[in-house]
Amino acid sequence: MEDRAFTVSLDKNPVISMKVIPGHFTTSHFHTNYYLDLDNLKTNASVARDVAEELALPYLSSTLVDTIVCIEGTEVIGAYLADELLREGTSVVNSGRDIHVVTPRSNVNRQFIFHHNIQKVIYNKNIILLVSSISSGITFNSALECLSYYGGKLVGVSALFNAYPDMHEQEVHSLFTSKDIPGYQLYSPGECAMCKEGRKLDAIIVHDGYIRM
Ligand SMILES: [Zn+2]
Repeated sequence: MEDRAFTVSLDKNPVISMKVIPGHFTTSHFHTNYYLDLDNLKTNASVARDVAEELALPYLSSTLVDTIVCIEGTEVIGAYLADELLREGTSVVNSGRDIHVVTPRSNVNRQFIFHHNIQKVIYNKNIILLVSSISSGITFNSALECLSYYGGKLVGVSALFNAYPDMHEQEVHSLFTSKDIPGYQLYSPGECAMCKEGRKLDAIIVHDGYIRM
């Protein structure tokens, strides 16, 4: 499994790359033939800064931003993204403003919530939602619902990876998509082609990695 891993890099800046591991994986919602290792993008400070520079581009000159909401471990990128947006410059609309970088909590029903003290930087504020990976869309939709519930005004969504770049009502600015990974597939558990071939699962994908079977 790991020995067949390969790397997919951004043409513009090859420092921005993800490790892709082929196999038969399951999450609680779907089966897939690839595990994407995005950890280095999220936790390696100098790489995260490059990622933020890239993600800032669609917003720099036109989008007023009050708050960046980070989910799925994107806080380091979020901080650098705020820094990029606050840069001084003639065509930079956010310089001199305040930008908050926050993360929602999960309640017992695994819904995203904001505690009372954070709600003031959400309600009626211009918000960028920053996510790691959009695959089944369940976590993504739950984050969108949360922002809408707390009265946030969504001005952009940025993702490191988006499995369905053409399928969301909401435009998503993503570094990588399924088009960068040859043969990338997501299956609902009952329809998985690998299961139908009798192939055993290799690993369970959890929120911060995978567990080998
Ligand atoms: Zn399967």
